[in-house]
Amino acid sequence: MKRIGLLGGMSWESTALYYRLLNEGVAERLGGLHSADLVLASVDFAPIAQLQADGRWDEAGAALAGRARTLEAAGADLVLLCTNTMHKVADHIQAAVNIPLLHIVDITAHAARRAGFSRVGLVATRFTMEQPFYRDRMATHGVDVLAPDEPGRDLVHRVIYDELCRGIVTESSRQQVRAVIEGLAARGAEAVILGCTEIELLISQDDCPIPALPTTALHATAAIDAALS
Ligand code: GLU
Repeated sequence: MKRIGLLGGMSWESTALYYRLLNEGVAERLGGLHSADLVLASVDFAPIAQLQADGRWDEAGAALAGRARTLEAAGADLVLLCTNTMHKVADHIQAAVNIPLLHIVDITAHAARRAGFSRVGLVATRFTMEQPFYRDRMATHGVDVLAPDEPGRDLVHRVIYDELCRGIVTESSRQQVRAVIEGLAARGAEAVILGCTEIELLISQDDCPIPALPTTALHATAAIDAALS
């Protein structure tokens, strides 16, 4: 089994979910007392979130690249960057190490194509929904991305940073995010990308009128595939 390097803490609430999914997935496939062989570099999210808000992405990329190098030095065979948003600096991180970074957009796009979807909605942070890095990489796979309208983007972004990244999960936010997803479906989205690694803590397939593409679960499954191949 290969060793998985998790670059997490953004936020730790979703990194905990990755940890559970990876261990459960390996146990399911190998049985018995098997669990994932992994190392974790977990950042303090507050300074990273500040760099995001200030648009200082190069500095955030350099900080994460440094942490990715520690994963490689600890024997990791691959890197999972446990956030969609920070894939904005994925190239910077990949350039710093000699082990592959499993890109969350590629994995999600492959899942969309496999299921036959080419026009999908996206709920995520403002950075992920509004900046081109996510949408453009999806487009290279033949997947068009539909973002919510301005009030919808504002709502989802606030729920992520003010609630989910702080471990707060409420029924009222679930209802509001559901309404945003229903709006995307009404505009023609064939599926919806749960494009923030915390959203799976709030929203499940049962909350969606269209198929959901849960990025944390898809990313974790791809890592298990790679680790056991
Ligand atoms: N974990 C979130 C994501 O997948 C948001 C937190 C962050 O900005 O990294 O985008």
